[in-house]
Amino acid sequence: MTDIAERSTAATVDPLLAELRQIVGEAYAVPGVEAPDALIDQRSRYVGRARAVVRPGSVDEVAAVVRLLAREEVPIVPQGGHTSLVGGATPDDSGRAVVLSLKRLDRVRAIDLDNDTITVEAGVVLRRLQDTARDAGRLFPLSLGAEDSCTIGGNLGSNAGGVQVLRYGNARDLTLGLEVVTPSGEIWHGLRGLRKDNSGYDLRDLYIGSEGTLGIITAATLKLYPLPVAQRTAFVKLDSSESVLALFRLAQADFGASLTAFEAISGPAYALVQQRMPEERVPFPAEPNAERWYVLLEISDNESDHHAAERMEHVLEAALRDGAALDALVAQSLAHSQGFWRLRQYALGRAQACDGGIVPHDISLPVSALPDFLRRNEAHLQSRLPGVRVFAYGHIGDGNLHYHIGRPIDQPATYLATHGAEITQIVHDDVVGFGGSIAAEHGVGRSKRDALLRHKSPIELRLMQAIKHALDPAGIMNPGQLLPLNAPADGATGRSALLNPRGSSPIHSS
Ligand SMILES: Cc1cc2nc3c(=O)[nH]c(=O)nc-3n(C[C@H](O)[C@H](O)[C@H](O)COP(=O)(O)OP(=O)(O)OC[C@H]3O[C@@H](n4cnc5c(N)ncnc54)[C@H](O)[C@@H]3O)c2cc1C
Repeated sequence: MTDIAERSTAATVDPLLAELRQIVGEAYAVPGVEAPDALIDQRSRYVGRARAVVRPGSVDEVAAVVRLLAREEVPIVPQGGHTSLVGGATPDDSGRAVVLSLKRLDRVRAIDLDNDTITVEAGVVLRRLQDTARDAGRLFPLSLGAEDSCTIGGNLGSNAGGVQVLRYGNARDLTLGLEVVTPSGEIWHGLRGLRKDNSGYDLRDLYIGSEGTLGIITAATLKLYPLPVAQRTAFVKLDSSESVLALFRLAQADFGASLTAFEAISGPAYALVQQRMPEERVPFPAEPNAERWYVLLEISDNESDHHAAERMEHVLEAALRDGAALDALVAQSLAHSQGFWRLRQYALGRAQACDGGIVPHDISLPVSALPDFLRRNEAHLQSRLPGVRVFAYGHIGDGNLHYHIGRPIDQPATYLATHGAEITQIVHDDVVGFGGSIAAEHGVGRSKRDALLRHKSPIELRLMQAIKHALDPAGIMNPGQLLPLNAPADGATGRSALLNPRGSSPIHSS
């Protein structure tokens, strides 16, 4: 009985799976249906299928897997923590692709305190990387809401931002060297810790932010910074978005490089937390006034706790005196500060989910244009879709807003599915009109791929396609992400296809 069952299973094993198992071991290559978590994205917006999910344990195994898949012309979806908010690490529903998870590549290879660098493999979870640096007396400053599960490979694949970009830059700014497996299965050993290297095209920066479409990052050498001696966090209430910018300028002028976070929350986004999650503690009671804004700012100080407290007090007093701020609270304990951050990192998103969902946008604008954009876009939205609610918040010091649109309160949840594409078009058109970007930090993935066609210039799209074709001529790396499938590689043909993308490209709500 057992014999027959085993033989029939063996007979039906996909030959590709059998070869993958020879490379990585029986336990680390399974049919897609046996790894459902690898097939559904963080927000359950995309559900795909995969021929197999493979988890190599070393860079040599990654290279061998890629060589096999290249030989068979099988699409590869690189996957880290699978926290992408743009569907970037989820396979499509064709069932043709193999998901290549980097999670088992999780070694810290070296910490070099003399040169302030750390070299880690792609599957190291961001939180562990931060903790490892801290244990060595250093700071690794990348920090974002998904840090308990996202991996450094995914952070680099998407050039992640987060809450300390203002001071330390995004993932690209923190990277000195990379190790990459190319789409043909070669290994590029580029783990240099050099601060300066002008020896030709910057391949490192090309791979960072390429969303798995050019190759697989297997390890990185990253910058470390001194640990701050003290931090101070404050929560401020303001009367308008103009006042948010006034406070930002004041804080920048006074704190300089000590200003490590400046996060703003619009009144409607803040009020929704109290409405939908009354159990959450908020620093100030929400007010009906839609013009209100709130700011969470944090400074890092290299002298002392007392010094940090004095500096924060000085700036907040000036802001209250000038009228830029209406009220301010300074966290008096770590728990108090964590409460402020919990509101920003967790409660806002949760409240929107409880409200029946939103149409999300991750946009950036010149900081000075934010108030005009907010006003103009709200007017455009209300004239076309009366009653929609704008929940805006984000890394305003970087000009980056999470600009989410909720349904009119008297409309059913299906409203957003019906009107999502129109909402996104109104938002994106204004963003581009104000000189901004429709993909600030989460990447393009598949949710903004078609919108990218509308908003990037033809020449940028042609150059991007030429790079894709040069590095991945067979088109096996994460196909359908970032750039459209079957995009013409040749400039002239590409031009005609892309000059009039509006007619052929349905806009997805993101
Ligand atoms: C609650 C929450 C908060 C978030 N906050 C932020 C934020 O503040 N800022 C921000 O930027 N993002 C944020 N994100 C989005 C997401 O967490 C980040 O983009 C993160 O960097 C993705 O890492 P990951 O390991 O989960 O990558 P995945 O989701 O697995 O992959 C992301 C992309 O990178 C590619 N990729 C993965 N690994 C590799 C590799 N080794 N080599 C090449 N390509 C690879 C994938 O194919 C995919 O295109 C947030 C997400 C959540 C759920």
